Amino acid sequence: MASVTDRAHAEALDAADPLASFRERFAVADEPIYLDGNSLGRLPRATPERLAARLEEWGMRLVGAWSGWIDEPRRVGDLLAESVLGARPGEVLVADSTTVNLYKLASAALDLRPGAVVVGPDEFPTDRYVLEGLAAARGRELRLTDPLATHGGDVALVCLSLVSYRSGELVDMAAVQAACDDALVLWDLSHAAGAVPIDLSAADLAVGCTYKYLNAGPGSPAFLYVRRELQPELRTPIQGWFGQRDQFRMGPLYEPVEGVERFHAGTPPILGVAAVEVGAELVAEARIERLRAKSEKLTALAVDLHDAWLAPLGFELGSPRTPAHRGAHVSLRHPEAWRICRALIERAGVVPDFRLPDSVRLGLPPLYTRFVDVWDALDRLRRLVVDEAYADLDPALARVT
Ligand SMILES: *Cc1c(COP(=O)(O)O)cnc(C)c1O
Repeated sequence: MASVTDRAHAEALDAADPLASFRERFAVADEPIYLDGNSLGRLPRATPERLAARLEEWGMRLVGAWSGWIDEPRRVGDLLAESVLGARPGEVLVADSTTVNLYKLASAALDLRPGAVVVGPDEFPTDRYVLEGLAAARGRELRLTDPLATHGGDVALVCLSLVSYRSGELVDMAAVQAACDDALVLWDLSHAAGAVPIDLSAADLAVGCTYKYLNAGPGSPAFLYVRRELQPELRTPIQGWFGQRDQFRMGPLYEPVEGVERFHAGTPPILGVAAVEVGAELVAEARIERLRAKSEKLTALAVDLHDAWLAPLGFELGSPRTPAHRGAHVSLRHPEAWRICRALIERAGVVPDFRLPDSVRLGLPPLYTRFVDVWDALDRLRRLVVDEAYADLDPALARVT
């Protein structure tokens, strides 16, 4: 068997990969090496066709097509529930953005429970900002602390990511649920959905986006999950007409419909929902357990190459070492991470991303990332750092990193 630093090792892993053919299901060019699918996933080849079918319906059937479209957010939600989220039918809805869904579910949870709001200091910014605003508006205490630190019985809501956007750490959902006692836990699954197997059977609330590992495209609608038993108790803060019982009776006062659809606000984005369907179907076909098995090997290869090549050059691993404790991306820390990242993109044909303060983040979505992509990217990265081919770049941050 070749050593990890031999390209032959990566080639052998690709040759033995049962999911290798899924790469052809995406629009892919060999260059650049794209390792940012955890920010924006690739375009599935089936998506333009699916959208074209929707556009045709619009063109030909006009408003009459709504009778078919109206159930799509729930139907595609059920598909996500079954093949991606480990939830039951009727618990998942495709709607709005992750930020808006987070607001809706957190607000509903705070209506139900008195007490403080807990969110980790390293949680994704939108989550912290939304909760900060909600806590302030309701006179609740906001605790920016590790959700796993022990809390008294005075916590209403705990919000955290299953997979951390920065480090890639995968937390133990059951352990967190157990540690949170009576508080409601709102999971952000943005970096987990389509990347790791998820079992929401013991979870109360969750949200997540579909343009990362679900490949539904820029601005595609997000999903929200509400445990069936909780649905009758929860009310959305946005009392829109799509969440109304007998919507087209247009009654005088708001009365929420039964079921997860009560978390609809207004008219759902039907074209975006169609793209979510394609993304969910691809995960269903590949099967999340197989995606996870490949993903653990992809991140392990990145970690091994980091140890062999990059640690001697001043890098540190910013992700958990144990494969079971990390999702599908790996963060490599270096004081010059920003300029190294720019140089990789501009001069080496590798697209990772940069996350403050010092991480080069390598997203390795298993549906379309090859082992040789990991090998080639880290090989180019090490050469660039040895040659200091980033040293003449501007250290000022760009608007989008
Ligand atoms: C990507 C991401 C989001 C994105 O929220 P939007 O409303 O789609 O901008 C939210 N939370 C986490 C943890 C994310 O990784």
